This record gives sequence, structure tokens and C-alpha cells, in this order.
Amino acid sequence: MAHPDEARAMPWPAPQIAWPPAEAAERIRAHARGALLGLALGDALGATVEFMTPREIRTHYGRHTQIRGGGWLKLAPGQVTDDTTMAFAVAEALIRNRQPTAEDYARAFDAWMRSKPVDIGNTVRRGITRYRRTGEACVPPSDDAGNGATMRCAPVAIALLGAPADAVRDAAITQARVTHHNPLTDAATVCVVRMIQAGILGHGIRGVIALAHELVKAQPAFHFRGKPALNPSGYIVDTMRAVLQAIDITDNFEAALIEVVNRGGDADTTGAIAGAILGALYGEQCLPASWRSALHTSIASQCLTHAEQLARL
Ligand code: MN
Ligand code: MN
Repeated sequence: MAHPDEARAMPWPAPQIAWPPAEAAERIRAHARGALLGLALGDALGATVEFMTPREIRTHYGRHTQIRGGGWLKLAPGQVTDDTTMAFAVAEALIRNRQPTAEDYARAFDAWMRSKPVDIGNTVRRGITRYRRTGEACVPPSDDAGNGATMRCAPVAIALLGAPADAVRDAAITQARVTHHNPLTDAATVCVVRMIQAGILGHGIRGVIALAHELVKAQPAFHFRGKPALNPSGYIVDTMRAVLQAIDITDNFEAALIEVVNRGGDADTTGAIAGAILGALYGEQCLPASWRSALHTSIASQCLTHAEQLARL
């Protein structure tokens, strides 16, 4: 599944690949399943080393390459965290309401928080607590550019495949604003949604990287070529720089995920975002079999069911 350099040199927009309709539909479903499974695999892999430095990871694991649980959350092998379960909440809101309002998402996140998730980010907790107190579904503009709205956005990409760009943008931002309201978070969330769509629709690595460059053009803080982003924090700029670098310097799902989680920091979230983009790009069949079998069965089956239902929207 390498992406040869000549593919990167292809003109943009990349030519649409003309599959026969039945084949195209099956390909889209396989890559939609890849996106959600990829997200869960990245979360499960990264959670073990979340908040560790690259040096600490080297000391403990050499190179961390297997889904083995543990970490500061003391997870069972194959267990996932808030990144995946919040994405399920987004998926369920989309499946239930087709075009969920901020209020629909707020109710879904409220129910999610009541389910006692293993972890919950500060900005997410603040937003949901505020909704409970005030009944307002959107948070006001803030300097807090956390990655929590971006980590959970993959279901929006699947549900809005083929929708006009404005509708995709609005849908990505609607779910984000329930907990995050910052131009950097908005830009990254819209970009990740578009990357996942590009992957599912067959635009290839060239299409995904072109979208990364568009993000940098609009928000230069995301500039990602050059010095490696190590120990990425939950600040969306740090998170995305690590994710984009890992995608940029590797040519397959497994290598990119290993690269990004071994940078430590918010590793379950960099893993989840990279996993969703690359699972969409390479498809379900390219996910490492040993990781697939390590993932909790109930999580894997929720990824598959949600992907199928979202793709039907
Ligand atoms: Mn997490
Ligand atoms: Mn995290």
C-alpha cells in the first residue's frame, strides 16, 4: 500500500477514479470501516504511552508497537478511551438525527459523560458541565484550542460523504462548538473531516497531503515540515503537527501509527486522529491483523456497525 512519489506529483485535484457503481459502493464502505477501526486502533495503541516522553517510552518499551493496555489509565489490552467513545456518541447523534443540531450533540455528550467514560478531557468536561448548568449547547469563543473536538470528528466525515463543502464544514463545526470554540480547533476539525473524506473517496495520499498544505496556508501555525514535533500536547497545533508529520514521512497505516504514538505526549489522541485519516485512506483490509485481533470485540463491532449505518446516510 505504498504511495509512490509519482502519485504525489499527480495534478490536484486528483482525477476521480471511475469504479463500477457496485464496486465503488463497497470500496467506500470498506474505507469508512477503516476510518472508525483506525481511530479505535490508534486510541488503543497510543493510550499505553499517553503522557510519556519519547525517552520514557524507549526506556519502558524500546519501540512501542503492540496493543497491550496499561498506561496511566491502567487499561486492559484492546480497551479504548474517550477519543473512541466520544466518536461513537457523535456517530449515534448522526444516525438518530441525520443532521444533528448542537443541542442534539450536547444531549449525546451529556449521556456519554453519564456513562462514566474512563477518561475525559478538561475542555470537554467544562463544555458538558456548562450545558447541564445553562442549557446552552454551544460554548462561547475561547483561547482554549484543545484537540477534543478533532479526535471525535470521523463520523461526520462518513455521514457527509459527497455533501457540498459548506455543509461538510458546518457539520464539522457544529459538533466541535458544543465543547470547543476556537479558530484553530475549527480549522483542524474541518481539515481532518475533509482528509477522511478524501481518503474514503480514493483521492490517495496526495489528496490528503494537499489538504494538510491548505490548512497550513489558512493557519500557518500548523506548519508541519521540518523539526519533528515530539511530546505533542493536547493543544491542537501540537497534536496536528505530530499527526501530519507521521502521515507525511511514512507510507502505510502501521508505520504511521507507530511513528506518532512513539512521540509520546497526547499519544492516544494523535493515534486516534492519524488512525482515522489513514484507516480511511488505506481501508479496512490494510489494518494490521494483530492489532485488529487485540481490539476489544465490542469496540470493533461498534466501529463496523456505525460505519455501515453512517455510510448509508
Ligand atoms: Mn483519550
Ligand atoms: Mn488523549
